[in-house]
Amino acid sequence: GAYIQAIENANEALNAYIVTTPEKALEMAKASDARLASGNAGELEGIPLGIKDLFGTEGIHTQAASHILDGFKPHYESTVTANLWADGAVMLGKLNMDEFAMGSSNETSYYGPVKNPWRAKGSNADLVPGGSSGGSAAAVAARLCAGATATDTGGSIRQPAAFTGTVGIKPTYGRCSRWGVVAFASSLDQAGPIARDVRDAAILLKSMASVDAKDTTSVDIAVPDYESAIGKPLAGLKIGVPKEYRVDGMPEEIEKLWQQGIAWLKDAGASIVDISLPHTKYALPAYYIVAPAEASSNLARYDGVRYGLRVPGKDIVDMYERTRATGFGEEVKRRIMIGTYVLSAGYYDAYYLQAQKVRNLIKKDFEDVFHAGVDAILTPATPSAAFGIADQDMAADPVKMYLNDIFTVTVNMAGLPGIAVPAGLDARGLPLGLQLIGRPFDEETLFQTAYVIE
Ligand code: GLN
Repeated sequence: GAYIQAIENANEALNAYIVTTPEKALEMAKASDARLASGNAGELEGIPLGIKDLFGTEGIHTQAASHILDGFKPHYESTVTANLWADGAVMLGKLNMDEFAMGSSNETSYYGPVKNPWRAKGSNADLVPGGSSGGSAAAVAARLCAGATATDTGGSIRQPAAFTGTVGIKPTYGRCSRWGVVAFASSLDQAGPIARDVRDAAILLKSMASVDAKDTTSVDIAVPDYESAIGKPLAGLKIGVPKEYRVDGMPEEIEKLWQQGIAWLKDAGASIVDISLPHTKYALPAYYIVAPAEASSNLARYDGVRYGLRVPGKDIVDMYERTRATGFGEEVKRRIMIGTYVLSAGYYDAYYLQAQKVRNLIKKDFEDVFHAGVDAILTPATPSAAFGIADQDMAADPVKMYLNDIFTVTVNMAGLPGIAVPAGLDARGLPLGLQLIGRPFDEETLFQTAYVIE
């Protein structure tokens, strides 16, 4: 009840929810109360969550914040949300996001931008919450839900978490089932939680994660009790600090934050080692080939025939064209064009194949470091704090927007787990995050180390 009221009060200002589901929430809460009374409580009994609009929710608005999915209400439930409901969680509604999860500022949504609940000291200017899971991050930060689902293809959980002072973890590729989640770039997409603190993130991820026969890329490795990793001493852990993440033009306050994080982990008993991940600088360009390529293929299905928007035309081809021209936003069209270009005959070898080779080198960089005994890697989460809505530089140059992902995309390219944890404030009083990157399927070490930083 309190959350429903809070959403009614604050959502108009923040635009974090696209749709709220108060009747559904009350019905689920009632069922939850009954289970609690009968001593049958699940691990998330009665916990009210917001769900990113990318997750298929049965009978409820699921449009990936796109015009082209107008009116789409799936007849299925994604595995991740089904897992949460099975543990007793309650759905408050569907959260805003960048259209098809393409963006780093939540400004590409058909439903309009989400506003960050934070303000810089002495200023009333609206800031972005980051993207693409901007609605999830803003809702958690503003207490419009106890926690939220999110997805991360190239940083979309970790960057908005860093911009809003929340905790976000992208688990290892294969940890959560992608079944029933609208696909962006299938070899990179992973679901994960955004939460108020490390403990909540650990509890949510445990529920969301599962092997699933309906997603053959989900992996059958037991999901540990992540919460028990929290509070464990760091003695014996080796934390790597990669020199390649000290990028040109990195603001001094980010560097200082990073040094502070190193000091905290050292104080907690970890040993710190300098490491090198030599192919880091190729990650961003390679990502912006692989992700659009896969997206252009995944988005081919939105043609006005099966679901969503249909704009009539003089024949079927004309109908396809009008539907796609009207239904997709500018950023989505840009990705489709890049994607079809890099996959086209004659260019495939020069771009896509090359990017896949780079991807292997990036993966190998991490393997070498972990093989040498490093348990986790500490980096900044983003190159800056939240920026203003309708930032002129970024609007004029999409590549500037893509630079936001410089510290996060490597993790998706390598399939590794990464967590963003709030670590301090910048000079304007805005939250900044640090990132910890772990071995495949070792999310436990991330929760253990992130807990020391938060
Ligand atoms: N900002 C990146 C992109 O636009 C990441 C998006 C994501 O992780 N979903 O592709």
